[in-house]
Amino acid sequence: MSDCFDIAIIGAGPAGMSAAITASAGGASVIVLDEKARAGGQIYRNVTASPLPSPEVLGPDYMKGRQLIEAFDNCAAEKLYQASVWHVGDNGEILFSYNNETRRLAAKEIIVTCGAMERPFPIPGWHLPGVMSAGSAQVMLKAEGIVRDDAIFVGTGPLLYQIVAQYIDLGVPVRALIDTTPWSSYASSARYTLDAATKPGMVVKGLGLLGKIAKAGIPVYRAATGLAIAGEGKATSIRFESGGKNYQLKADHFFLHQGVIPNLNMSRALGLELEWSEQQLCWKPKLDTWGQSSVPSVAVAGDGSGIVGADGAAAMGDIVALNKLFRLEKISEQERNQRATPSQRTLDSLNSFRRFIDHLYRPIDECRIPQQEDTVVCRCEERTLADLKQGFELGGKGPNDLKGMTRCGMGPCQGRQCGHTVSELLAQWRNQPVADVGYYRLRSPMKLLSLTEMSAFSEITPRPVYEDAMADKEAV
Ligand SMILES: Cc1cc2nc3c(=O)[nH]c(=O)nc-3n(C[C@H](O)[C@H](O)[C@H](O)COP(=O)(O)OP(=O)(O)OC[C@H]3O[C@@H](n4cnc5c(N)ncnc54)[C@H](O)[C@@H]3O)c2cc1C
Repeated sequence: MSDCFDIAIIGAGPAGMSAAITASAGGASVIVLDEKARAGGQIYRNVTASPLPSPEVLGPDYMKGRQLIEAFDNCAAEKLYQASVWHVGDNGEILFSYNNETRRLAAKEIIVTCGAMERPFPIPGWHLPGVMSAGSAQVMLKAEGIVRDDAIFVGTGPLLYQIVAQYIDLGVPVRALIDTTPWSSYASSARYTLDAATKPGMVVKGLGLLGKIAKAGIPVYRAATGLAIAGEGKATSIRFESGGKNYQLKADHFFLHQGVIPNLNMSRALGLELEWSEQQLCWKPKLDTWGQSSVPSVAVAGDGSGIVGADGAAAMGDIVALNKLFRLEKISEQERNQRATPSQRTLDSLNSFRRFIDHLYRPIDECRIPQQEDTVVCRCEERTLADLKQGFELGGKGPNDLKGMTRCGMGPCQGRQCGHTVSELLAQWRNQPVADVGYYRLRSPMKLLSLTEMSAFSEITPRPVYEDAMADKEAV
């Protein structure tokens, strides 16, 4: 029996689940690791164990996750939940925390499907208690059934409107929606109307969300600029300008959102080459059409590869898994190409639609690049724009030098929250493209872990059942 898995998949969201279904059906020994207690990822979080009496209220796009999770549960891949991966070597070694211990396994091929995170939204006061991302508000809702009455939602993007619509459907009062989409984006995205037309159902869905918000009578402030949250010890109000007027609104909870970007910590710690996407204003791993990264055994699928959405993530998981089966010599090149065609078509049309979305909801500069000296950039180490400017003037010209000089990016999130802001700030100060500035270098462990976990160590190898199944298959 081999002590090495054919394929290890990190993340059990739509991309990871779909990859596992395809890869295990193709006869590969597959293990899937996810730090959460169950499969689903961000979009389908807890859909099979919702704390809500009627989870249907969160919409059909949420409920359809049950089908994928059922297929995933029934596939032959080994599944390990509450397994938090903190090291992946280019030799196929994976180390992760499980049950307060360190576990190790090895795999010939690795598929990283660690998903997305929300883009940092570094405005004055975004670090105050009472302020959180809109996605985190949705996590509270899906995971614990917790909501906040009379919150103010701020930002742009389909996910923001979807969460507001979910609040409306649940009957939770919303104080206001402050929309930062500039009027100019409606005009500039018009040239991508043909791309939008590839997915009329999604256009109708988007218009439906906006219509629901309008009908609910929630005050909506459009093309807002000059945002600043204020409060002593906790957030109590937000100031902004909209339609030529200045406003100050009071609330106890502010939910911010400026779209999602790939979760890069795993890709960076693995040393994968990254590239800057001007369309999505984010770093993403450099991949070929099969999701293969600059490290031959490692592929990336789903939102961690660049934002593709849940259906795109599932399609990409299938494509990447078929290529892994080809690399493992379990299918021919011709079979791979043939079987991947439907998923590639799905992905292509979703990517066309995304071009329209990316242009319409492109976050404005002042919502990505802090303007005021006392705005916190690194919330873990409480480093402000002024601290970073000083570090830059003292010689911190690149992200890693600046990190060394200021500790910005050295906290528990390992730069996840400030990495993009730092790259964009340096690009502005150096008057160079972001692509030339680069991103933080990361090293393992990429997650917080205790000394107890490091000292308790054991190995995980494939279950003999794979060997048996393969022997049975060969006998037939
Ligand atoms: C907060 C948030 C909420 C969202 N809500 C919606 C929504 O309601 N509707 C919608 O259409 N889109 C939503 N999205 C976008 C959505 O995430 C995706 O389009 C879709 O879920 C992407 O699928 P994926 O498989 O690429 O990643 P994900 O679904 O994010 O799955 C990634 C998985 O990787 C696991 N993981 C990450 N790091 C590790 C590690 N080190 N060790 C082990 N496991 C790890 C995570 O636990 C997670 O389960 C949301 C995004 C965010 C950030």
